[in-house]
Amino acid sequence: MKKSILRYTQFMGICTLLGFSFSCQKKEIIEEKFSTTTASTEQKEAVKVDPTTSLRAYSASSFAVVNKASTVAANGTKIPIVFTQGLFGFGREELLGLKYWGGGFKDLQEILKSNGYPTYTSNVGPISSNYDRAIELFYQIKGGSVDYGKAHSDKFGHLQKVGKTYPGLYPEWDKNHPIHLIGHSMGGQTIRYLLGLLEKGSVIERSIDGHAPIFDGNRKGWVKSITTISTPNSGTSLENTLGTGIVKLVKDVAISLANLSNTTGIDKVLYNFDIEQWGMNRDPNESFLSYVNKIGQSKLWASQDEGAYDLSIKGAMELNEFATTSPDVYYFALCTKATNTGILTGWEYPKLTMFAPCIPLVYPYAWPLPPGVGNYTNSNASANAGVIIDKKWWANDGLANTYSMRGPIGSKTVDYTPNMSIEKGTWYAELFNGYDHFDIVGLTIKDVTPLYLEHAKLLSQLQ
Ligand SMILES: [Zn+2]
Repeated sequence: MKKSILRYTQFMGICTLLGFSFSCQKKEIIEEKFSTTTASTEQKEAVKVDPTTSLRAYSASSFAVVNKASTVAANGTKIPIVFTQGLFGFGREELLGLKYWGGGFKDLQEILKSNGYPTYTSNVGPISSNYDRAIELFYQIKGGSVDYGKAHSDKFGHLQKVGKTYPGLYPEWDKNHPIHLIGHSMGGQTIRYLLGLLEKGSVIERSIDGHAPIFDGNRKGWVKSITTISTPNSGTSLENTLGTGIVKLVKDVAISLANLSNTTGIDKVLYNFDIEQWGMNRDPNESFLSYVNKIGQSKLWASQDEGAYDLSIKGAMELNEFATTSPDVYYFALCTKATNTGILTGWEYPKLTMFAPCIPLVYPYAWPLPPGVGNYTNSNASANAGVIIDKKWWANDGLANTYSMRGPIGSKTVDYTPNMSIEKGTWYAELFNGYDHFDIVGLTIKDVTPLYLEHAKLLSQLQ
């Protein structure tokens, strides 16, 4: 228990540093906002407070999928779950072994396993594009040597092969041994991209002799279900409100982290950015500071082949053109909301429980300050890949818009209710009110174990 507390303390320290870095990066706009936040918070209008979603009630509900319940694949084996993390995510062995899925006290992978649900955790590039992450995820699950494809690698000017070979979390993986994919935040985009690669492959890559088999596509049936958790499936309007954009924010956060780690002596606990494709190997004897300063100079940031671009509405909508909703897969969207609605204006105000560094990022500032996610609108659709940003986009979880979490715009989405019939090719969206972007994977003190157990149970019942 003492060890758990120590880990948790260290973990929250790192989270705070990360959050602090995020907030600092917005200072050119936010400094002004910070000085008015307190006053604004005190003087804000009355808000409607929806109760926090009770996971206990959720846990007690029973799922009766209309199709006959089945816990096994056609060949009699249990269908495993694979977790994929979001931006700045980390693997099970990084950050002193703290768990992205569960935090300091809980280990959701092991909890699900001990309840009879085989579960694996992947560890893809924390700042890489969803294309690169999907390729990595394929080899991490199936096994083999990472190959980003010649056409893609030439286009963006990075290495096609980086000498990374994986034994495979589930080498049996094929249409007779399917998997359930669960992704948090940007991880939801990654798993959707992987599904696109499995089913469609890549026209341009397969025209090249010697291409990797992944680009042939024709792998329908390999994925039983997709679950996106707090995923900005159509991007986040945070990009529109930041001024300097998410790419610069992410780059600056990475470099700030290195500086902070250097001054605080936590150099060894931080992780690898896994961008060897950009020629960025971390020398075992190299300080984290030197490593990240090197990353700051990378041409990655000037490309559109990195994660932050995919989080913008424009980037996400481009991704959605490829990663379309498959009629052969079950889809679930677990959506989070950590804001209260203003009764007069409809603006969305952060709840006090929201992860503190996120509050100034999304706060609905009144004119003459530039608006935040909670009240940003833009009727110029052509500026946002055809998307009009209106009040639907205001509710958020501190980083992403709740509306965008419900599935890609244009997909068939329905609200999930227990006991309803579940069909392939339709997104089933469920709202978790009072949970912010980090609560929902167990990175805070909220215990989300019942949610994951119930969801694993639901997945196990899908035909
Ligand atoms: Zn790439």
